[in-house]
Amino acid sequence: MSITNNLLQIKSQLPNQVTLIAVSKTKPIADLMEVYNAGQRIFGENKIQEMTDKWEQLPKDIQWHMIGHVQTNKIKYMAAYVSLIHGVDSLKLLEEINKQAIKHHRIIDCLLQVYIAKEESKFGLDEQDLIEILNSEEFKQLKNIKIVGLMGMATFTEHQNQIKKEFQNLKRIFDKLQNQPATYNLQPTTLSMGMSGDYKLAIESGSTMVRIGSSIFGTR
Ligand SMILES: *Cc1c(COP(=O)(O)O)cnc(C)c1O
Repeated sequence: MSITNNLLQIKSQLPNQVTLIAVSKTKPIADLMEVYNAGQRIFGENKIQEMTDKWEQLPKDIQWHMIGHVQTNKIKYMAAYVSLIHGVDSLKLLEEINKQAIKHHRIIDCLLQVYIAKEESKFGLDEQDLIEILNSEEFKQLKNIKIVGLMGMATFTEHQNQIKKEFQNLKRIFDKLQNQPATYNLQPTTLSMGMSGDYKLAIESGSTMVRIGSSIFGTR
């Protein structure tokens, strides 16, 4: 199957309320252009340098999502253009994003990454950390970032029940957050969960945004 066919096939299966991020990390510009020409406008990358190179070369109506783990000292390279940062897992990172956003006279949308998997290698906050950040005075001062939701990655496993439990746990935390009164920098509407291997389970569990790479572009 061609990249275009892969994209169209996946899109035809997604419910209306679910946004598709085409995860294009490691893929060449030509592949991204093919997906662009098929109508896709949101791309996900996990390295700031690579994303910035691609942003420079590709049409300016693309929305770039940073889905990887973010290093504080590199935020400045994407602050001018990034449309959503998925992997925010500390107050320190939020403060730096805020600082860079001020320089560019904009508000940068962020998702807080929650640790739901049973794997040491994955990043994220636990529920308690999350509450502490959102209730802190420091957070309330940040006027140039907006938390628009949560992101999580399930364990890489064959066990569907395990994955489902993890997604449902993230959905529960998301619902709790949504039930709090919204503020100017906390307006959770997005739940980013699901990749090529598990996006159907994620959607069943309440995902509103799926990040799909290899099922569109082929294996990396
Ligand atoms: C690479 C990546 C994806 C996409 O993974 P696929 O299995 O290729 O769909 C999704 N989310 C994150 C955070 C990633 O790093």
